[in-house]
Amino acid sequence: MTTAPIATTIRRREFHSFTSAGKPFAYLVPSAAVFELDDASAAILALLENGPIAPAELIGQLTPRFSEIELHETVDELLRVQAIAAGLDAPPLPKLLPIGAQVGAEPGMPIPLTTMVLNVTNQCNLSCTYCYEYGEDKIVDTENGKKAKFMTEETARESVDFMLREAGPNRTAHLTFFGGETLMNLPVLKFAIPYARERAAALGKQVDFSLTTNATLLRPEVIAFLAENRVGVTISIDGPKDVQDQFRVFHNGMGSYEIAVPKIRELLTRHRSRPIGARVTLTSQNLDIRKIFRHLRDEIGFYEVGFAPVTTASNREYAIADAGFDYMLDQFRSLAAEFLEYALEDRHHGFSNVKDTLEEIHKGVSKAYPCGAGLGLMGVSTDGDVALCHRFAGSDSHKLGTVRDGIDRLVQIDFLNKHHIADKTDCSQCWARPLCSGGCYHEAHTRYGDTAHANLHYCEWIRGWTDTCLKIYAELAVKNPRYLQQFDEEEHEASQVN
Ligand code: SF4
Ligand code: SF4
Repeated sequence: MTTAPIATTIRRREFHSFTSAGKPFAYLVPSAAVFELDDASAAILALLENGPIAPAELIGQLTPRFSEIELHETVDELLRVQAIAAGLDAPPLPKLLPIGAQVGAEPGMPIPLTTMVLNVTNQCNLSCTYCYEYGEDKIVDTENGKKAKFMTEETARESVDFMLREAGPNRTAHLTFFGGETLMNLPVLKFAIPYARERAAALGKQVDFSLTTNATLLRPEVIAFLAENRVGVTISIDGPKDVQDQFRVFHNGMGSYEIAVPKIRELLTRHRSRPIGARVTLTSQNLDIRKIFRHLRDEIGFYEVGFAPVTTASNREYAIADAGFDYMLDQFRSLAAEFLEYALEDRHHGFSNVKDTLEEIHKGVSKAYPCGAGLGLMGVSTDGDVALCHRFAGSDSHKLGTVRDGIDRLVQIDFLNKHHIADKTDCSQCWARPLCSGGCYHEAHTRYGDTAHANLHYCEWIRGWTDTCLKIYAELAVKNPRYLQQFDEEEHEASQVN
């Protein structure tokens, strides 16, 4: 058997080690791969913990525990998966912009648009205390006066044309409707959906539709329209009545649970063409995740439930502080353990935070940017301004162009240059960065006043949660690899926007 020659000096690269199903694993940062360690690879990595070493010395120290040929082969394998590297110095992080987006490139480089979020209104019939659209943390930097309250059909038409133009070679475009309360502008949905479908068909493309709503305006004819058009629906809801009515209230202070839940039940009964998900905002006063999950999945009947901590400045009463993040992590872990039990038996569980992370791990996602904002995902304001994402729609400081004039490529490239993970020095030593990449720009803007700032207030939570999902992934890989095959087969679904 022949093996490649071993380099003159070898050293460890970055990884996070963990144990799952009684076996040792490493999450390899350079390749974003999960790697099961056999005895020889574990011994080599342990030896390299003390620093780089010459191969001859390594072999000398590890034989006769392992044969020379086994050590050669294991070193080759560890080099291949990027667990180790040749040479003394770590190579600088490559700053790879997306295909076509080069620093200093001529304007006009195409980054295909995958998902367009259309803010069809900035009005809402609720007045949720923590809302980033209406609450204390609203972005108020619109230099050009107030934005239109409702998108017009004309702007919706221009937005669809823009989306199909910017989709480039993509065969499917994802169009998500958002607000305010999305259903307050139902006429624009009723116009935009058939228009988008017709225009896409003429171009040999198709459009996947989805929306987010608080459910209070779901009437039977609206539900019928959503079902007929296979519109994916995400309901913003925080849990049982006592939890929901704490923050999700009408303008007169009345809680929304009693209005929303019968309508949600009707939606779940009548809209069977797509699974319906719930999206929960967690606050310092609302962290009983198991109770919320039970209510939404078992008592109401949602297919899946996803949770996200509230985005807010740290001094708000409802902001989650360190102890809250610890408690939240415990709750997430407990529900994740239940998810694992289900997955081992090929049963659907519905805790979407785990599933989403497992999919990213399985696909070896290594993010140069935390999300698609400003890349494959953009938000469009009521008057047709194009922004990083829906949360920035209408903000002049985060505008990338308009649906009429297109994207200003220099602004886009400047944004991408300033937000690349290679420039987030706070993250440069963090093993979780392939999946986190510094976190949400909107969260960073709200917390630190700077979209390029790493979200350092939740690092422990992110690393703890990533570690949990890695362990679940590894256990499934060992005990039920069939479960993970769904991630090979699944088509891209529009990200759940919130
Ligand atoms: S924000 Fe924190 S957890 Fe995320 S990559 Fe940076 S250092 Fe790691
Ligand atoms: S993660 Fe934040 S910046 Fe990215 S799309 Fe979502 S809200 Fe926008």
